[in-house]
Amino acid sequence: MILKDFFMALSQNQFLNSAAKKYGLKMGAQSVVAGTNIEEVIKSIKELNKHEISCTVDNLGEFVFKKEEAIQAREQILKVIEAIHKNKVDAHISLKPTQLGLDIEYSFCLSNLKEIVHQAHQYGIFVNIDMEDYGHLKPSFDLLDELSLEYDNVGTVIQAYFYQSQENLEKYKDFRLRIVKGAYKEPEEYAYQDKKDIDKNFIKLIEWHLLNGKFTSIATHDHKIIQHVKDFVKRNNIPNDKFEIQMLYGFRKDLQLKLASEGCNFCTYVPFGQDWYGYFMRRLAERPQNLNLVAKQVFNK
Ligand code: FAD
Repeated sequence: MILKDFFMALSQNQFLNSAAKKYGLKMGAQSVVAGTNIEEVIKSIKELNKHEISCTVDNLGEFVFKKEEAIQAREQILKVIEAIHKNKVDAHISLKPTQLGLDIEYSFCLSNLKEIVHQAHQYGIFVNIDMEDYGHLKPSFDLLDELSLEYDNVGTVIQAYFYQSQENLEKYKDFRLRIVKGAYKEPEEYAYQDKKDIDKNFIKLIEWHLLNGKFTSIATHDHKIIQHVKDFVKRNNIPNDKFEIQMLYGFRKDLQLKLASEGCNFCTYVPFGQDWYGYFMRRLAERPQNLNLVAKQVFNK
């Protein structure tokens, strides 16, 4: 718990975040971040596509407080969409509203998102709005509501640690939804704290959406839950085209390849870019054993 809190606090340290941008991928981040530019990320996607693995691409960045930075992020994501289209790779977009200015001004963020979703729509590319911490939950759903008035290529994430997740799941059941346990540190007031409660709710949400929803992305590295899902879809005759398993780039690579080779729809979340620091620290907070990624890099020099 102490390590988790330590890395979570580091993940929000603005000074370290800016410093990390200057120095490129360090501390083992290169194992879980697919490069710093579009060329590198397209290369990684092509490699994964060869194994029948589709990708969701995240141009890393979050908690942006300057308009220029949000505009820069928007332009970069538009370039990624062009690159996906031009290279004919099997990939879609994941993005974070705070990277596109949600903390600056809601309408500014909405217009940035609209530009992205519009461009992606022209090429038939899906855009996922990643979910961040509790403070951004409602405005992120509001963004989805407004975007879905005009576009059908947009969806979001349901975080199982929130008490209100079932309610949100039912409200958004007709969207393509990614269901996750939840990555941020949230207070007891809003969120389950105990791992057992989170896992129980996670399974409940997955089952409900598999039975009632449009398309379910089950995003987890938890092999027990994946096995549970495999048994559940078999028992309930859920067609293969109604769900997929997602994992993060660089994690449990053998399991990713195994699931894809068994014919399970599989999607890897592929982060790239210079703003890797917060993402990487959250991965260490989730699973301090990931520190061995850091150790390997340090000792392999
Ligand atoms: P955990 O609870 O971390 O682990 C459960 C068990 O799985 C472990 O005890 C271990 O046995 C096994 N395990 C886990 N990792 C490994 C490993 N690396 N190697 C070997 N065994 C392992 N969170 C958000 O809040 N918002 C988002 O938008 C969001 N998007 C995500 C997208 C994807 C594709 C993924 C995979 C996660 C996303 N998350 C997001 C993070 C998510 O909420 C969890 O914090 C994260 O996935 C850790 O939980 P877990 O389900 O993987 O399993």
